Amino acid sequence: MTDITLLPQVTAFLGREHGHYISGRLLAGAGTEKFAVVNPATGQAIAQVVEGGQEEVDAAMQAAFAAFHGAWARVSPMERGNCLMRLADLLQAHREELAQLESLCSGKTIQLARGLEIDMAAQFLRYFAGWSSKISGETLNVSLPSFRGEQYTAFTRREPLGVVVGIIPWNFSIMIAIWKLAAALTCGCTVVLKPSEYTPLTMLRVAELAQEAGIPDGTLNVVNGSGARLGPALIAHPHCAKVSFTGSVPTGIAVGKAAMEQGIVRTTLELGGKNGAAFLADVSVDKMVDGIIEAGYLNQGQICAAAERFYLPDSHIDAVLEKLTQRLGAMKVGSSLDETTEVGPLANEAHYRKVLGLFDKARAEGSQIVCGGHALAGPGFFVAPTAIRATGPDDLLMREETFGPVGTFLAYDDEEQMIAMMNDSPYGLAASLWTNDLSKAMRMIPRIEAGTVWINMHTFLDPALPFGGMKSSGIGREFGSAFIEHYTELKSVMVRY
Ligand code: NDP
Repeated sequence: MTDITLLPQVTAFLGREHGHYISGRLLAGAGTEKFAVVNPATGQAIAQVVEGGQEEVDAAMQAAFAAFHGAWARVSPMERGNCLMRLADLLQAHREELAQLESLCSGKTIQLARGLEIDMAAQFLRYFAGWSSKISGETLNVSLPSFRGEQYTAFTRREPLGVVVGIIPWNFSIMIAIWKLAAALTCGCTVVLKPSEYTPLTMLRVAELAQEAGIPDGTLNVVNGSGARLGPALIAHPHCAKVSFTGSVPTGIAVGKAAMEQGIVRTTLELGGKNGAAFLADVSVDKMVDGIIEAGYLNQGQICAAAERFYLPDSHIDAVLEKLTQRLGAMKVGSSLDETTEVGPLANEAHYRKVLGLFDKARAEGSQIVCGGHALAGPGFFVAPTAIRATGPDDLLMREETFGPVGTFLAYDDEEQMIAMMNDSPYGLAASLWTNDLSKAMRMIPRIEAGTVWINMHTFLDPALPFGGMKSSGIGREFGSAFIEHYTELKSVMVRY
């Protein structure tokens, strides 16, 4: 197969001058420096973006603040939801255009970009839209006695926080941004988004569609440029009421510290992990291999919830690794725009070099590279799907996140030992347990330290289920009804009469 033909509107979009989206306008901004957007499948620059600075930060935060108190505040809760519904429809109407742009910028295969990134982003938008008309407080009974015959009544209100700064990683440049903007807008907040500098283009196009959907100017703004410079500037801005960050643990810690120092700015952190997947001995070898591929290798492993540590029964590990080697070796690696490709490139050169460096360290430590463990020929940033057999629970790759197509495998002979090893990690974003024994699974679920536990499945995010990390994998929950707590302030009102 060959690459699909790019839509003319995609080629035209790439040829534009790119910068930021502020107050309902695409603009280059005041900057003189530009940075290149590189297609990771070819290593070639496909567009240039003007780097943002303090001027764009100020303009975007001011626009969002004005909309929070003005245009967006005047939109009724029901109409907020309608705006998000229309945006969902527009994402679907522009599905192919957005999927091609996402694929070109991030290296995501075109099939995943269509089916996972765009379709799921639309589904999440619709889910959040439904909440906009259902956010409310409670009526409460005052608990203390009345001494002089006075009466009391009390209620709580959920009030929007204000301007939300959403900081987005490169692995799902549309979907993760949609999570943040939908949560914020549903609650009545406004947003300034800072995409990763590796994937700065797609939200510019989505912002135009948001305007078409009727979202008032200033409600959604996008500022592009270096995270290390723009991130702190956005958080330090006096109009920043909340920062919602998704990314790596070290950057998340820096964001959290900056937010606290800035006057306890509200913070949600969705961070990395080293997610575990454990297979009990009642599962067949074939099902284990299917499960491992589902859990660890989708989008080249560049999914925060993907499994990277695999625990297999001693009795099965040799057979599983043999079969897994065949299956990984047969996966079709290739251009992201080829519809038959199963494994695309890693999303950028820095990440590619980091993953290759981790292979070197694993080898030096004595871990056994069962398959892969090397770069693949080609101009882009391709890495072979890799399986590594650890010598023990303290091997580097049982502890450090690769965020690549890399599974590290360890045998266990006792289920208690397996649970202890699963929990022996500073992270706790997600985990999965694979077994035909539901009773055993139900008993193990409360003992697994992770924000999400899947049974006989992995990497399946549903908007109705809260998502977020335990331990060093973050603070706060997205989705479900849990997000409301993180985008509103709870105000108590007490009345004496
Ligand atoms: P980073 O933490 O490097 O970057 C995330 C975002 O933060 C980017 O927009 C980046 O901008 C920005 N940023 C960088 N420095 C700062 C700073 N000092 N202050 C504020 N913002 C800053 O992560 P990656 O983009 O490299 O994404 C990969 C990582 O994200 C993985 O470790 C993965 O585990 C994690 N992740 C977690 C998810 C979750 O839900 N838990 C989901 C997806 C990814 P720029 O790119 O311009 O530097």
